[in-house]
Amino acid sequence: MKLLEGKNVIITGASRGIGTGIAQVFANHGANVAFTYSSSEAPALALEKELTAKGVKAKAYKSNAASFSESEALIANVLEDFGGIDVLINNAGITKDNLLMRMAEEDFDKVIEINLKSVFNMTKAVQRTMLKQRKGSIINMSSVVGVKGNAGQANYAASKAGMIGFTKSVALELGSRNIRCNAIAPGFIETEMTAKLDEKVVQGWREGIPLKRGGAPEDIANACLFFASDLSAYVTGQVLNVDGGMLT
Ligand code: NAP
Repeated sequence: MKLLEGKNVIITGASRGIGTGIAQVFANHGANVAFTYSSSEAPALALEKELTAKGVKAKAYKSNAASFSESEALIANVLEDFGGIDVLINNAGITKDNLLMRMAEEDFDKVIEINLKSVFNMTKAVQRTMLKQRKGSIINMSSVVGVKGNAGQANYAASKAGMIGFTKSVALELGSRNIRCNAIAPGFIETEMTAKLDEKVVQGWREGIPLKRGGAPEDIANACLFFASDLSAYVTGQVLNVDGGMLT
């Protein structure tokens, strides 16, 4: 059964990793997929081609999620190209890890701008359309680190915790208009973001995870599918840990 037939979805940061996984799973479920990237043009265009071959509409847009004006322009372009937006997934994110003692001010600001301010930018830009439609689903990609913190990631943890507060507030503000807003807190998912980590550290993490493995982008995509579809029609303001039991 296809769960998103004919729905229009926008995903930020889908040129690789979790975003690509979400785009693929959503297209398999019949969704038309608009997605963004910041610099990886070749993989973004390859993904556009791959999704289109599945028989859905798909388009890659180069857009910096940290920019308010670029986000506004992006949404206007997507509305023109797709005719509506049913689902927004705020997935774009970066890390700039360091102990607080060594963390530069610009590395704190950059992570907050790309991971958190972007969520404000994009949500504000789609809000009017979703209010008019009297329906919509917004999904924010937080992290287990936003729930429990992590040494060496004060900037990242603050951005991801901020997303949770934002999610719950938007759920309260927009619920009466049938617009739902939920967050996902992935644990350790094997992508380019985590490929930077020391293999010994990673092995230690894998052993500490009750399911004894890192997650795949598809594991997160399936959780997004739940929040994007009518299967979660009565669910809003929630944070779903998709972490192999890491936080249990
Ligand atoms: P990734 O492999 O590093 O991919 C990040 C994506 O975000 C890329 O498509 C990148 O585009 C895009 N991006 C970066 N800066 C952007 C900007 N300013 N504007 C628009 N797009 C931008 O990361 P990932 O592992 O898939 O993570 C995706 C999300 O899940 C992030 O929010 C991350 O914090 C969260 N998360 C990941 C894990 C994990 O274990 N992997 C765990 C918890 C949460 P370019 O390729 O063009 O740079």
